Amino acid sequence: MKDVARRLADRLVVAPGERARLSRRDPRATPFLDDKSRAEAAIDALVQRLDDWQLRLHAEARQSLLVVIQGMDASGKDGVIRRVMGGFDPAGCHVHSFKAPTALELAHDPLWRLHARTPAAGEVAIWNRSHYEDVLIVRVRDLVPRAVWSRRYRHFVEFERLLVESGTRVLKLCLHLSREEQRERLLARLEEPDKRWKFREGDLDERARWDDYQTAYEDALTRTSSEHAPWYVIPADRKWYRDWAVATLLVHTLAEMRPRIPEPVLDLARLERRLRRER
Ligand code: ATP
Ligand code: MG
Repeated sequence: MKDVARRLADRLVVAPGERARLSRRDPRATPFLDDKSRAEAAIDALVQRLDDWQLRLHAEARQSLLVVIQGMDASGKDGVIRRVMGGFDPAGCHVHSFKAPTALELAHDPLWRLHARTPAAGEVAIWNRSHYEDVLIVRVRDLVPRAVWSRRYRHFVEFERLLVESGTRVLKLCLHLSREEQRERLLARLEEPDKRWKFREGDLDERARWDDYQTAYEDALTRTSSEHAPWYVIPADRKWYRDWAVATLLVHTLAEMRPRIPEPVLDLARLERRLRRER
């Protein structure tokens, strides 16, 4: 298992210093596991293990984990959070979805609204969209001049270095969806009454800029995949594969962090005597 996780991480990572080359990464690929029912069973087991690792992280209270999730509309950001992160105890896990900034947020630098949402020692934080929107939609839609957004890659690498050097592990996941699969999923959102609420007219405007987004994603992944906070590109056309790959990377990451339940030095005999005397 550990071996598969390491090989999967090696396969999906954007090696620092190399181009991400999204067009050469198949969103339908299923490296290391191509059977849906086996994947479902494996996810259940992995989710159990996440719960156990989180307990250790919490008890140790020294390190924290930040999971950044990016992806086009309908790539499954919400889905993966529900299925995989659902294994975390809500008491020590925060999920935050970053929407278009408010006027107050826009009056600050892009990292201002993010820093307050980073995980405290012992916690897990999950970001559904993130600072990367400031070099994705902001670039594609020309919301600020190139001179402004192009400096942000460097800011993000350094921001993440600050977090890592402060005890936060940063796991960055890009859910890589094909244009065809997005069309199917958006159609399903229209057809199924329970999914319609997710649909926004603007989603089709973003979709119309697909190629610009691919370029913006590729540059973001290439320029910000660092030794301290590398990007992983998750094939996301098959939901079961996406969830299995994310669960595997999460367990692998926590195992590498090796949080330990501390062993406090307690005079057990004396404490027990005190408790027994109460009766
Ligand atoms: P789903 O993918 O499930 O539809 P969502 O994340 O798209 O969910 P929405 O409320 O539909 O949720 O969209 C949030 C919108 O906010 C996105 O279009 C995103 O690009 C935009 N956004 C997030 N951060 C920024 C930012 N810094 N500047 C401009 N727009 C942003
Ligand atoms: Mg949306």
